[in-house]
Amino acid sequence: MGFAGIVVNNESQAMDRIFTYKIPEKMNISVGSRVKVPFGASNKRLDGFVVEMIPEAEVKGIKDISSVFPGTLFDSWTVEVVEEMRKRYLCTYLEGIRLFIPVGTLKGAGFKTEEKLYPNLVLSGKLNKEPYASIADLIGKNPGKFIRADISRMGFSPSSLNTLIRHGVIEVSSVRSSRHDIRDYENYEAPRLNQEQLIASDTIMKKPGTYLVHGITGSGKTEVFMDVIKRMLKEGKDSIVLVPEISLTPQMIERFKGRFGKDISIFHSRLSEGERFDEWHRVKNGEVKIAVGARSALFLPFRDLGLIVVDEEHESSYKSEMNPKYSAVEMAEFMMDRKGGRLVLASATPSINSYHRAVTGEIGLITLDKRATKGSLPEMTAVDMREELRAGNRSMFSRVLRGEIEKALDSKEQVILFLNRRGFSTFVSCRSCGHVFNCPNCSVSLTYHTSRDLSCHHCGYRQVLPETCPACSSRYIKQFGTGTEKVEEMVRKEFPGARVVRMDRDTAKNKSDYEDMYNSFKNREGDILIGTQMITKGLDFKNVTLVGIIAADLSLNLPDFRAGERTFQLITQVAGRAGRHDKPGKVIIQSYTPEDPSIVNAKEHDYKGFYRREISAREMMYNPPFSRIMSIVQSSVDEALLIKNIQTVGAELRKFLFGYDKIIMLGPSPCLISKIKQNHRWQVLLKGELDPDIARRIKDLVLEKSVRDVRTSIDLDPTSM
Ligand code: ADP
Ligand code: ZN
Ligand code: ZN
Repeated sequence: MGFAGIVVNNESQAMDRIFTYKIPEKMNISVGSRVKVPFGASNKRLDGFVVEMIPEAEVKGIKDISSVFPGTLFDSWTVEVVEEMRKRYLCTYLEGIRLFIPVGTLKGAGFKTEEKLYPNLVLSGKLNKEPYASIADLIGKNPGKFIRADISRMGFSPSSLNTLIRHGVIEVSSVRSSRHDIRDYENYEAPRLNQEQLIASDTIMKKPGTYLVHGITGSGKTEVFMDVIKRMLKEGKDSIVLVPEISLTPQMIERFKGRFGKDISIFHSRLSEGERFDEWHRVKNGEVKIAVGARSALFLPFRDLGLIVVDEEHESSYKSEMNPKYSAVEMAEFMMDRKGGRLVLASATPSINSYHRAVTGEIGLITLDKRATKGSLPEMTAVDMREELRAGNRSMFSRVLRGEIEKALDSKEQVILFLNRRGFSTFVSCRSCGHVFNCPNCSVSLTYHTSRDLSCHHCGYRQVLPETCPACSSRYIKQFGTGTEKVEEMVRKEFPGARVVRMDRDTAKNKSDYEDMYNSFKNREGDILIGTQMITKGLDFKNVTLVGIIAADLSLNLPDFRAGERTFQLITQVAGRAGRHDKPGKVIIQSYTPEDPSIVNAKEHDYKGFYRREISAREMMYNPPFSRIMSIVQSSVDEALLIKNIQTVGAELRKFLFGYDKIIMLGPSPCLISKIKQNHRWQVLLKGELDPDIARRIKDLVLEKSVRDVRTSIDLDPTSM
């Protein structure tokens, strides 16, 4: 007999604790068991997860576990990681545990099974004739290959088959069928690593720890970590490779599958729930040794994890925007630290934070500064769009860019045009009265699409653009700002012979759209690829020699201390798509502020210069990595209630923080987007020495002082503000 500590699935933040239950006689319980337990005064049966075994407890008033599901979902290692997440990100046990169990578990997801047909007894007596003989022969020669439907499809009647089954000639057996991708992939040979790459791989293998691999695009970083994975395999260790969702291109998948074949699991959000369920079990059963996937792959149940790679480590998508609001980079480091494994962070444009840690010696730094193939870095040109206006060019293409596009088209080379904004124009307004078409649910303007739709990119609201202004009936309605649809229209107008592919969230709604477009451009069925963020990573087209960045200052004007970092990263990443192979590449950066230091650094391929300037600005402004930021956002449909509430919270926080002179408080003030989906939003920002202890106390205080109809969202180290 004994007791178990159980986290109960009761959906309440306030109940975030471990409850003790008694294990009934003969019930087989261990850490990771999923159980049903009676809960609360009404003894309602709820799902629970066992997180600890307790040998002895005060028996009085302790309830019995009602029942247990077979198998375990996690182990004590998971519990340790969940405890850490709870501490760092102020999440609940349940929110943490959910990351580790396959999606759909609580909704009853299961294995897919199929009833396969097997031969059993030999044909005899009156059954020894047609059509029975043919069916029996077919199944006899292909045991376990067919299901009932296959036999019908071959023209035999279901009743003949049933007769055979009834007489025991054929046996039906349920077998688990897998939903995972079993296609064959072309073998992707490993190249012989060059000197730089060999040193990198050896350095990582030499001793456990965290390494930042800073290598220019195309320097062969991926080959380095594939080599390390291979060496880990030899030691019997498992590896996880995290890549941003949008980099998990068909090309990337082909490359990994082609190198590691059956040993690998590809895990991303485009998989169905069933597919994820199966992949999770393949890992748990030890059938695969390597997983490549987006953020959530970090929590797959490997037994002997020795390596985690985070590719494009600077990407903000490694930070979860849902609870737990964890950073995959941080958690990967925690995990490898505890397991004595290796964490490899790779990027052409490391985050300021990681690079700072590397140059101060906290983590290892490995630099690759030559392209692995013959290609050299592209030639970068910045164009001042103000000059273009002065010269009378009102087109969105500068004269230089237009000339280069023409040249590329003439020599049958491909072009990528990048603009980080979808739609046709960013806002629409009336020239007579100034009326702006705004979303009725959010405090943003509506984006115009060529379908004549106005749509909200925050809540999905749509309306048709009216012929006349709803405020003054004028017909003089005009569109302002540029999105990818307008770029497409202009390209078609100015380069009528060119075949155009546009890739953004409107055209690539699902995996197959995306793959189709990707393949068609790769097979040179398109000359110009226009796209958003979606095209900045992982794409490796041999024939692309020109990249045009339509408006480099878009990301510069964000009210965020990371605006410069984002701009530098975007330009460098997009530029990395040009001239990756034999033909040299060119990049044209169009901007209204080409003298901006981040643009200049990117143009000169000068990461170090960029870092030095940026880190001193951060220090001067007391921004991360010299401080931590905590964002407290409250929202409610009731604006007055919200404001009253957050002002109370703000006043209490000020009182609490009195005496903490290393923490600065900003606000309360309306969020940058002050209304989303009818919810008004205000925030308080804290900046300073926010250790987990103070953070937890701040969270408790905020929740305690808030009324029920106001929602609170707390984010430590948010990726945007
Ligand atoms: P990164 O991840 O730094 O962008 P990759 O590993 O994708 O770089 O390599 C870029 C290109 O160079 C790929 O096509 C890859 O196959 C090739 N490559 C990498 N290392 C070598 C090498 N040692 N010899 C030949 N080709 C290489
Ligand atoms: Zn008007
Ligand atoms: Zn909206």
